Amino acid sequence: MPSDGARPDGTPLTGRCYCGALSFSVASPPQTVAYCHCDDCRRWTGAPVGAFAAFDVEALRFDPPLSDPLVKTDSVARWNCPKCGSPLAATFDYLPGQVYVPLGVLDQIDDVQPELHCHADNCARWLRIQDTLPKYRHSGRSMLRKGS
Ligand SMILES: [Zn+2]
Ligand SMILES: [Zn+2]
Repeated sequence: MPSDGARPDGTPLTGRCYCGALSFSVASPPQTVAYCHCDDCRRWTGAPVGAFAAFDVEALRFDPPLSDPLVKTDSVARWNCPKCGSPLAATFDYLPGQVYVPLGVLDQIDDVQPELHCHADNCARWLRIQDTLPKYRHSGRSMLRKGS
């Protein structure tokens, strides 16, 4: 299990759902951090744009451990808090070994900064993104995989 510390000072990243029934810690830095403007990420998070950190599945520990995913399709699994519904984790068969965690449930959001935009063509028309990060028209899968 990676133990080099997820934050600049070597301590783990932590987070929790809205109600606090589920918390987590992660022992190694994110492999990649991305905004996603696709419809699925919007609907799952309820936000105009999703923002996620991809962690090594071996480095992420939930307390209590996650049980069955709320949503499971052929290629995607999504976990929400069973009490409050907060989106907590997603895995994608085409991104093996990675768990995607929405940035909004992290305790140290300032330490985890997005590096790219996925599905940038689908950005809400009124949303003004003024950063200079790379913007991928589609999923940016090749970039997301770089850490794995
Ligand atoms: Zn909860
Ligand atoms: Zn998406």
